[in-house]
Amino acid sequence: MYDFVIIGAGITGSFIAHELSKRECSVLVLDKEGDVADGASMANSAIIHAGYDPKPGTLKAKLNVRGNRMYPDICEQLGVTYRKSSAFVVASDEDESKILDTLKDQATERDVRYRDISGDEARTLEPNLSKSVIRALEFPDTGIVYPWNVAIALMEEAVLNGTELRLNEEVKDIDRISQGYHITTSKGEYDAACIINAAGVYADKIYGMALKDEPGFTIKARRGEYYVLDEMAVPVVSRVIYPVPGPNGKGVLVVPTIHNNILLGPNSAEIDDKEAVNNTADALAYVKKNTAKTVDNIPYDKVIRTFAGLRPSGDSGDFIIEESDRLAGFVNVACIDSPGLASAPAIAEYVVEEILHDGLKHKDEGSYIHRKPIRYMNELTDEEKNRVISENPDYGEIVCRCCLVSKGEIIDCINRPAGATTVKGVKKRVGPGLGRCQGGFCEPLVVDILAEELGVDKTDIRYDSERSVMLMEQTKNGTGKEGSRS
Ligand SMILES: Cc1cc2nc3c(=O)[nH]c(=O)nc-3n(C[C@H](O)[C@H](O)[C@H](O)COP(=O)(O)OP(=O)(O)OC[C@H]3O[C@@H](n4cnc5c(N)ncnc54)[C@H](O)[C@@H]3O)c2cc1C
Repeated sequence: MYDFVIIGAGITGSFIAHELSKRECSVLVLDKEGDVADGASMANSAIIHAGYDPKPGTLKAKLNVRGNRMYPDICEQLGVTYRKSSAFVVASDEDESKILDTLKDQATERDVRYRDISGDEARTLEPNLSKSVIRALEFPDTGIVYPWNVAIALMEEAVLNGTELRLNEEVKDIDRISQGYHITTSKGEYDAACIINAAGVYADKIYGMALKDEPGFTIKARRGEYYVLDEMAVPVVSRVIYPVPGPNGKGVLVVPTIHNNILLGPNSAEIDDKEAVNNTADALAYVKKNTAKTVDNIPYDKVIRTFAGLRPSGDSGDFIIEESDRLAGFVNVACIDSPGLASAPAIAEYVVEEILHDGLKHKDEGSYIHRKPIRYMNELTDEEKNRVISENPDYGEIVCRCCLVSKGEIIDCINRPAGATTVKGVKKRVGPGLGRCQGGFCEPLVVDILAEELGVDKTDIRYDSERSVMLMEQTKNGTGKEGSRS
């Protein structure tokens, strides 16, 4: 019997697992996908919003502001990159300017720092800002991260401190037992005194499974689609550019990333299929039209990929974070759409301290094991690179030529706790495939390294989920003759 079973290894489940790993308790994390952060936490705008716009009085407003303040220290402790990028929310006419007044009042009430500047002053800082912009609010505490890097680092540290992680295990059924819950997955059975339901777009289904009844809330998938621009020496903007928020949320943004790429998007479209992370021509056209309202000179010839993510949006408009009043020891952390990433550390704190009343004994700080950050070769000086390569020549063998990722980094990320077992897992941790060629050159080499390190056949390596087969069979059998194609 585990003290806690967390369903879902997205950013929410990972922060909660990390928080619990500091206390004396047994924790199992289950996820149906092949890696940490493969749901909404993989495909989003990656912004640690400042917290000026959620509706007053909501959990979103409270936890976004708190989460934004927690991020810099947590990322430093984990050894993952966080950049305070700052942001402009821009207005192009008097009606939009009135919305800025409301945001300003909310920011003042929440003690969120801002600067109210004219369109011309904003353009001196962001020369590509549209000529139509008449006024901007600058929010200097807006940050950017790679969300999956944060989630993976949290889970790595949780696993180092005793948390069990089981991937590719879909929760299929939940039954009440005398002291908690019996969970049946696609691969096993587990008992838990307490369940924490952090299952993203499926959190309503998971709650219904345990209740054997209608869950009382519904989660819809709201798809957001993006273009990604290639890394540029001088990116088109250096801050996040938001239009004024509207009924569909924050609107279409222009977002610099940690590695100087630019994200353009997202739209917001409710869809029925909770797995449909495909792109559509209409949504991408909408993104193009709307980015043109805030930023000029966007180089669409530099698009290297498009992607889509699904927001787990509830019918109440707010996060649902509470112990069920119908099932003792069943905690819903549901409807975590935007600003779920920015709020995630505060959500975990709220769950552990307020919902679980933190009756758990803290582990001694001295006995807690901190992860060793990944050593990224492209962040080292030439002198440091030479030293690392002389100690381990694998760090001198470049596998990804776009992002300059070495074999040594790939081997390291596979052999860590909660390490990569898939091609996308390697891409998320150390970057091969994120660059201009999108894996065209390095993907087969990554498959080779994964097979060697995991001691499996290359045909067993998956791109991502268990369904994403990369190699069907050998085309040549080693003697130069073609293998069977039947
Ligand atoms: C387009 C878009 C843009 C966004 N931009 C931002 C932003 O800039 N800033 C911000 O703060 N927020 C943003 N968000 C919101 C943010 O991404 C989410 O709030 C956050 O990622 C939710 O994390 P989660 O862990 O709750 O859910 P998820 O990351 O979806 O994790 C849920 C996990 O549960 C697992 N699961 C589901 N069912 C089962 C089952 N039966 N058995 C086992 N496992 C299961 C899934 O595999 C998944 O890994 C955006 C979201 C989208 C889609």
